[in-house]
Amino acid sequence: MAKKIFSCVACGKQPLTKNEVSINKKLLGMTSKNFYCIECLAIFLEVAPQDILDKIEDFKNDGCKLFE
Ligand SMILES: [Zn+2]
Repeated sequence: MAKKIFSCVACGKQPLTKNEVSINKKLLGMTSKNFYCIECLAIFLEVAPQDILDKIEDFKNDGCKLFE
C-alpha cells in the first residue's frame, strides 16, 4: 500500500512527518483534511513553533500512538 504523502497547505512543504500530521489531527480535529507543517501550524494557532514541539512531546509522554 502506497504511503500517503501529506504536504503543508500553507507553504507546500512536503513530506510532512508523522508527528506533524498527528499534531494537526490532535489540534485541528481528526477529520481535518488540511495539514500544516510545524511552522505554519504555529502561525495559524498564533503560538511559537517550540510550543507545538512541546505539545508533541507531551502527547508522546502520554503514550499517544499517533506520535513516534
Ligand atoms: Zn508550512
